[in-house]
Amino acid sequence: LVELAHVEKHFGDLHVLKDINLTVTKGEVLVVVGPSGSGKSTMCRTINRLETIDSGVIRIDGKPLPQEGKELAALRAEVGMVFQSFNLFANKTILENVTLAPIKVRHMDKKEAEDLAMDLLARVGVDSQASKMPSQLSGGQQQRVAIARALAMRPKVMLFDEPTSALDPEMVNEVLDVMVELAREGMTMICITHEMGFARKAANRIVFMADGRILEEGTPDEFFDNPKTDRAKDFLSKIL
Ligand code: ATP
Ligand code: MG
Repeated sequence: LVELAHVEKHFGDLHVLKDINLTVTKGEVLVVVGPSGSGKSTMCRTINRLETIDSGVIRIDGKPLPQEGKELAALRAEVGMVFQSFNLFANKTILENVTLAPIKVRHMDKKEAEDLAMDLLARVGVDSQASKMPSQLSGGQQQRVAIARALAMRPKVMLFDEPTSALDPEMVNEVLDVMVELAREGMTMICITHEMGFARKAANRIVFMADGRILEEGTPDEFFDNPKTDRAKDFLSKIL
């Protein structure tokens, strides 16, 4: 479903992505881990073209990423993204946050979009907050709204970039539970996270990045119990 082949990316002199090759199949949950600055976020952002690449190819559903215009907008609609900061529209209600894109991009009528939004808000457990403003919700609730908002576009794949790292500890699990549920339902997911409990429970595959390269790739058991490289051993000794 998502394919990166020989992807290279520089920021000026800094070589951030080095020959990245990665395939994510439909329904697969991939967890990306690695030290700070290793290029995890950059890789994730290239997949919906929030970052351009210098060379290589990225394909979604077999089609190379469009460069601009309508096709790029259509692609972005198929790739949901949830960031560390929830990025909800502060001056819109929770319900409006979720209905906005389906109405604008998918041309859904208001009633239909609201029904869909209420279903999704119920799924993530915040439907009772629908008429509130984002600032009235806890961080964990806001992040669950951000997930519902991404799901409202019916994406083929969901990208998560450290969705729980800005949350107070007691709110981390309420967001991870939603992600585990989504994984069980068969959503294709690429998750950057250092939540190893989640990785063990939900991931089909772990990718370990360091210095812009994918150094290891394997099942959670292979990676956590038997890391092959010194970099990965060192990394795991610091976070486990
Ligand atoms: P973290 O775990 O801290 O989030 P990361 O693995 O996600 O790290 P990236 O954010 O992808 O790492 O950054 C990789 C490298 O690229 C870092 O050295 C970072 O400083 C640099 N970088 C990221 N974005 C830009 C940018 N827009 N311009 C210049 N350099 C950048
Ligand atoms: Mg990052």
